Amino acid sequence: MRVLALNCGSSSVKSALIDTAHGRRLQEMHVENIGSDHARLHAGNEVRELRQGIDLPGAVDELLAAYRSAAPEAVVHRIVHGGEKFRETLRLDDAVLGEIEQLNHLAPLHNPPALAAIHRARAALPDIPHFAEFDTAFHSTLPAHAREYALPADVRRRFGIRRFGFHGINHAHVARSVAGYLKSDGLRIVSCHLGNGASVTAIEGGRSVDTSMGMTPLEGLVMGTRAGDVDPGVLLQLRREGHLDADELDDLLNKRSGLKGLAGTNDMREIERRAGAGDQDCELAIAMYVHRIRKYIGAYAAEMGGVDVIAFTAGIGEHSALIRRRCSERLEFMGVALDAASNDALKLTNDNPVAIFSAAGSRVHLLAVRADEELAMARATAAALGH
Ligand code: AMP
Repeated sequence: MRVLALNCGSSSVKSALIDTAHGRRLQEMHVENIGSDHARLHAGNEVRELRQGIDLPGAVDELLAAYRSAAPEAVVHRIVHGGEKFRETLRLDDAVLGEIEQLNHLAPLHNPPALAAIHRARAALPDIPHFAEFDTAFHSTLPAHAREYALPADVRRRFGIRRFGFHGINHAHVARSVAGYLKSDGLRIVSCHLGNGASVTAIEGGRSVDTSMGMTPLEGLVMGTRAGDVDPGVLLQLRREGHLDADELDDLLNKRSGLKGLAGTNDMREIERRAGAGDQDCELAIAMYVHRIRKYIGAYAAEMGGVDVIAFTAGIGEHSALIRRRCSERLEFMGVALDAASNDALKLTNDNPVAIFSAAGSRVHLLAVRADEELAMARATAAALGH
């Protein structure tokens, strides 16, 4: 069937019309820079400037108008946070939307724009079913020991504090792609999603058993602009000595830290270029970025009693041979052997979405997997409709 997948970020919307029977993209478009004076709609090689000051619902209207003649049979929307309740692909109606709205406080930057887009899409395409796919859902299988923080039970209960994990749509897609590629279902996979946001997930037999993001997408890896793991004592110090309030801490940890805080930019291409020319801040940024990933790989290997596959995905995971190589170094003790030539030559496309770069005798398979949230969302929707 033809499913339209809409994937809203805070300043961008990705979209694709997918033929789910063949897993093919029939059409794809994205809008970037929403909220600035330079919002642009990209459709293939065509780029169109949108009107100044266009907001997210306005951008969604533009996309929907462009898809109408293609007659999608269903629409699926990505929602970052599904809270405790939403653990699978869900058909949307007014009552369910009301419940999802109750979760806005858990993901104030991400859920409200997605809901605004859903309202627009349901108004524009009222005669076809609309579905939601949640980024937290894949991690609903986390065992209690990986899900909880070591805080008093009454505090956790009162404030709803627990780990949820994110990037679940893509980690699930990686798990399925890897299982299909290696023709095996019982694999122990460490999936490294290395985009502007970044997380690592331990996957056993297709189920998430641990993941590096926690109650919010702040925990874990060094990211584009997020700090990832820091001693919570640092926050107390900044609160007490620096007199930073909650909003200032939020801004510091979410927007001014990570690669940007270390190297002045969150563009890994530029960081690699500058490090190559001897820039020490950039060298340190790469060293810290890789160090944190390797720490999680080691931790998850210990948790799962070994690893069969380490998979790299998203912007940096798919495109940076340097980061893949450095993350795979000194892991010979657990059976990892990289093939440098395959790693350097690796190129993923829609027709070639998985590639191997481990050496022939490597006990652990090193794979790169093209991130494809839209395909995963569309397939889940078709399955929910019995296709
Ligand atoms: P994403 O959020 O998945 O779009 O990933 C964004 C990140 O991927 C940014 O840090 C980009 O600099 C990085 N990226 C994209 N292409 C490359 C490349 N060829 N080499 C290194 N990093 C890249």
